[in-house]
Amino acid sequence: MNSTKPRILLCACGLTPQVVTETLYVLLREGGESVPDEVHILTTDTGRRIVQNKLYGAASPMTDLCREFGAADRVRRGMDMVHVLGGTTPLEDIRTTGDNARAGECIFELVRDLVSRSQSLHVSLAGGRKTMGFLLGTALQLLGREQDDLSHVLVAAPFESKPDFFYPPRNVQEYTFQSRETGEWYTLPASAARIELARLPLIRLGDRLELPRTAPDGGFDEAVATARRAVEVPMVTLDLAARTLQVGKRATQLTALEAAVYHAMLDATLSRCRAGATPGNCRWCFTEPRTLPMDLILADVAAAYGQYSSQYERVREQLSNLRDVGGWFRQKRTAINAKLQALPQGHVAFIASHRQYGNSSYGVCLPRNRITIHRPE
Ligand SMILES: [Zn+2]
Repeated sequence: MNSTKPRILLCACGLTPQVVTETLYVLLREGGESVPDEVHILTTDTGRRIVQNKLYGAASPMTDLCREFGAADRVRRGMDMVHVLGGTTPLEDIRTTGDNARAGECIFELVRDLVSRSQSLHVSLAGGRKTMGFLLGTALQLLGREQDDLSHVLVAAPFESKPDFFYPPRNVQEYTFQSRETGEWYTLPASAARIELARLPLIRLGDRLELPRTAPDGGFDEAVATARRAVEVPMVTLDLAARTLQVGKRATQLTALEAAVYHAMLDATLSRCRAGATPGNCRWCFTEPRTLPMDLILADVAAAYGQYSSQYERVREQLSNLRDVGGWFRQKRTAINAKLQALPQGHVAFIASHRQYGNSSYGVCLPRNRITIHRPE
């Protein structure tokens, strides 16, 4: 971690810039590493004008707040850190699928840029449209590191909807409100102005996915595709006629005997596996080599070569004279796993091993709905 890089706060902001001061107020109150060095705001074009008037105008609650915590010089802020959705051709709202895609790219690029030049990034979703918040959260999920955070500011009613409330300054003892129902005026003490940050659950994939750090090498859609590949179990397809084993989109060529052996593994998985939705090592689907269904393996080889072929005859002889079934199986396993190793997602289909009481058993522990077997016509 580079300690000269700033800690950055990024706030989504719609038409109520109060969420920015309220969020910053909690972080200043927490102190220490929570205090940002820079406050960035993501908003629409209309939102930008409101931020300019209400946060950074002649009266600046942002500056007042920072001063109150003795952080006026430390926390860098201002209109140069206000980012308008859509950039040079601003998006006022997200109304078409085109707007939606552009908003996604714009948000992804902003988060990528802020991640790359910050020591830590804290994203606040309190303001702006739901879509904006969702896209921001997703972008941070894809790019976020261990030290990054996602939060939502919670402000006690009726302060939440008070237009001139930005944070509770120390010199204000009480606040005046007008009841919506009766129209009567009433006061609340400053202690009633409770503001809290709710930290939101964030799966930080940034360190794991290692996405390209610069724009031309892939945007939001590619990042999502990369994440999907990393978390979703690909389909494993064994084609007995073609003798191919396909994992996801890529296939490898097996010999007839390797295909038959792998078929036996998958049959065991389909009939006994208890792994459920995630691949693993449930071991219910594992088989000891001496209990392999040799007759079925031979039947596959016969179907591949023809029962009267010399190839089939050679395999049949080899299998009927096996002295060391375990050694023979391990050779087949090594060959199959080496071919799988060459496929991008091949590791999910490896024949795994488990050793207990001196006996080894083997299996392909996969969810049943991720297995397809094509049998010859
Ligand atoms: Zn299993």
